[in-house]
Amino acid sequence: MVESQSPVIGDSGPEAAALVASRVLDVPDFPKPGIVFKDLMPLFADGPVFREVIDEIVGYHGAESFDVVAGIEARGFVLAAAIAYATGTGVVPVRKAGKLPRASFSASYALEYGEAVLEVHQDAFTADQRVLVVDDVLATGGTASATLDLVERAGGVVTGFSVLLELGFLAGRERLSPRAVHAMWRV
Ligand code: AMP
Repeated sequence: MVESQSPVIGDSGPEAAALVASRVLDVPDFPKPGIVFKDLMPLFADGPVFREVIDEIVGYHGAESFDVVAGIEARGFVLAAAIAYATGTGVVPVRKAGKLPRASFSASYALEYGEAVLEVHQDAFTADQRVLVVDDVLATGGTASATLDLVERAGGVVTGFSVLLELGFLAGRERLSPRAVHAMWRV
């Protein structure tokens, strides 16, 4: 019997979407009942797939389109560091409250499962530095929206935003509009 399956889609095409989909695990009821946590650790742990994903993000935006990569704590750090290394750029961590040692800008926002505060150092970017922002999952878009605002408050210019997985039913993309979203896999 052939079961019907919804098509695997994303902004880098069906093959890239299927590659990401093949390395994501659903964890029901984590961290709260009713939430299906999308665990990307299997993707990070698979060397060839991780490299392909990083190369795709770089190729999508173009290595010349950004000067620095901002990663959102904590899984965004993994992506940001790899992209930065691959392109000879640097990393700026966007951190949860209270972790940064020097003067910071902060933004509070609502999560799919709670409230949170993100911070970035006030001198994290030079004036008009071009910034690629990355995270693992786009859900409601609150995290991304707060981050993009923080980057701009700190003097950066957001030239791209990538995630590995977009939960389309939570309408994060619409919330971020007119900013462009690059999601390798959209469910
Ligand atoms: P949001 O602000 O609602 O777009 O949530 C995005 C942030 O929360 C990202 O940093 C994700 O890592 C995390 N997140 C939210 N929902 C999920 C989920 N269902 N599975 C995995 N991570 C999630």
